Amino acid sequence: MDFSLLAEVFERIEATRKRLEYTKELAKLFAAAKPSEVRRLAYLCNGILLPQHEGIDLGVGDKLAEQSISLVSGKSVKEVETVFRRKGDLGEAAQELLHKKTQLTLSAHALSLEKVYDNLMRVATASGVGSQETKVKLLAELLSNASPNEARVIVRLVQGSLRMGVGESTVLDTLSVAKAGDKSLREELERAFNLTSDIGLVAESFFEKGIDGVRKVKPIPFNPIRPALAGRLPGAKEIFEKLGECAAEGKYDGLRLAIHKSGERVEIFSRKQEKMTHMFPDVVTAVRKQVRAREAIFEGEAVAFDECTKRFLPFQETIQRKRKHGVGAKAKELPLHVFAFELLYCDGKDLTRLPYSERRAELAAVIKQGETIELAKNIIAKSALALKSFFDECVSAGLEGIIAKDLSAPYTAGTRKFAWIKLKKSYQTELADSLDLTIVGYYIGKGKRTQFGFGGLLAAAYGPRENSFRTVCKIGTGFSEERMKEFKQMLSEIEVAKKPDNVDSVLVPSKWVKPRYVVSVTADEITQSPTHTCCRKGNQGLALRFPRFKELRTDKNPEDATTEDEVMELYEMQGQKNG
Ligand code: AMP
Repeated sequence: MDFSLLAEVFERIEATRKRLEYTKELAKLFAAAKPSEVRRLAYLCNGILLPQHEGIDLGVGDKLAEQSISLVSGKSVKEVETVFRRKGDLGEAAQELLHKKTQLTLSAHALSLEKVYDNLMRVATASGVGSQETKVKLLAELLSNASPNEARVIVRLVQGSLRMGVGESTVLDTLSVAKAGDKSLREELERAFNLTSDIGLVAESFFEKGIDGVRKVKPIPFNPIRPALAGRLPGAKEIFEKLGECAAEGKYDGLRLAIHKSGERVEIFSRKQEKMTHMFPDVVTAVRKQVRAREAIFEGEAVAFDECTKRFLPFQETIQRKRKHGVGAKAKELPLHVFAFELLYCDGKDLTRLPYSERRAELAAVIKQGETIELAKNIIAKSALALKSFFDECVSAGLEGIIAKDLSAPYTAGTRKFAWIKLKKSYQTELADSLDLTIVGYYIGKGKRTQFGFGGLLAAAYGPRENSFRTVCKIGTGFSEERMKEFKQMLSEIEVAKKPDNVDSVLVPSKWVKPRYVVSVTADEITQSPTHTCCRKGNQGLALRFPRFKELRTDKNPEDATTEDEVMELYEMQGQKNG
């Protein structure tokens, strides 16, 4: 397949941003692809070379790409930089510079999809002495054979800035449309994706073995599973009305770990599918001792525990274990307890389709008593009253609340369903729950804050259907001086000259940033507002009143932010509470 076909579709995607239209265009590409191309096509559509957990990072910074563009265009790096600054986008700068050049030369060969993919893979994996030059040359080789539009796409690919254009969700729609003509196969494709986090594997199974092949996909050790998420209801009574007799577990406030084991090999993934194994040597040792299975995938919440006071430590302490350096010393200072709550796979068996009651029984059988890993405490509640008293017991033991679980529900990988319902102590005060919002911009401080170059954040909820971030508040309080300095530093590294395409905002902050960081925010209430775009109908959106910064959630991806539907849900819950 010619790479130009993909580049043209990308160009139209950027121009229309109408998902329905470009899904059809992408579907045509998949329908025309050879079976051997499908996997690569799926990854490139998604702006990646391999799934994130494989740890392949294109790692091409602006400087390196500028050198390649300079080599091919015959312009100096300084000149490339000037065009970059004017355009605010290096892909567009490459397009303009190469446009001038292609008018002069006619020597280019058509680029195939394979060639682009393979060269980019070589760029990503080049290492050691001289690897920077190799990368510059490999990229220049592609650019010298690329049309201006292809060059723009290639540069944006290597910079990782295409990623948000076509999310996994769109690729899944596309696969269904390519074969069935509509989205009817989407749900099953999504299930396979949620279990393996590998869009290429799903696409390939689908094109080689049809939907039956996709149905047979099961968890694979070391392929992270997308986490199941909890719905919310305001109280024990409402939960019991919804689920009837149900299980309830303590809600521990720490880091969610997905632990994979095969023989002696153990890997630990975060909720956003990053490999974190090296950060938790204590947990790895415990898994080898305490898990009675050759192969297993299970989840638990890791919480730092104070052995003297026998109290759980707050999230801010636990998160200190998420570090690259000084791992051993921190492990001694803050030992973790892992409260296991889900078994998803065990010795060849897919447990995700089993009801909670069976998964929990198998989990209990697999985890051996020991110091580090224990089972999340649970009860079977036969009444709303029993749920409420378990909730009170958990809160007084220092937990965040409870998670009620539907006894007959399967594990709902990657989705927020009412199979799990959370009830937190914070529901009794203020706004029902804190929100996790994605930073899309920041303000330069006024008055005393001028010295930090930081005055507050513009934050957004996520709209998964359109893959868009819509603003819901400006946050100006809750920051320590240290935090302000840290934000200024972190955010200035991801500043962009224009509003990112996937951000929907009426407000214009001092600086736009790429959606990357998630912050936890509390507020007094949700109100209607003409200045925010979250849940916008006509000219009214929803906004947080008196938002306060709580913490930085380095364990969450921008797409893990509270969704617009959840903001609406919280708004409605608040309406119920106030009668
Ligand atoms: P939230 O982040 O507020 O949506 O709450 C859901 C999170 O609670 C999960 O992602 C887990 O990290 C955490 N959690 C703590 N205890 C449990 C439990 N027993 N079962 C499931 N999730 C739990």
